[in-house]
Amino acid sequence: MNADITPVPHEPAEGESDCQHVLTHLYEYLDSEMTAADEHRMRAHVAHCSPCLVELSVEEIVKKLVKRSCAEQAPETLRLRIREQITILAR
Ligand SMILES: [Zn+2]
Repeated sequence: MNADITPVPHEPAEGESDCQHVLTHLYEYLDSEMTAADEHRMRAHVAHCSPCLVELSVEEIVKKLVKRSCAEQAPETLRLRIREQITILAR
């Protein structure tokens, strides 16, 4: 976590669904740069929305792999493969 970053609460944008909220702020969540309230909103949503849970899980795994391999970015093929596997599991 970057100590210079102060989490900013997300006012739900007009017309923004919880799905959009999750997808828009995915990386803030993974980097623990969210306020407790936003984190709660995120978790509460993915608990009953498998497409969002899949997205979150994919990014979480990719992030860990990238960190371990010191690569700049995970190849898109890897991301697709992980997503496929998680989608099967999430069914
Ligand atoms: Zn969703």
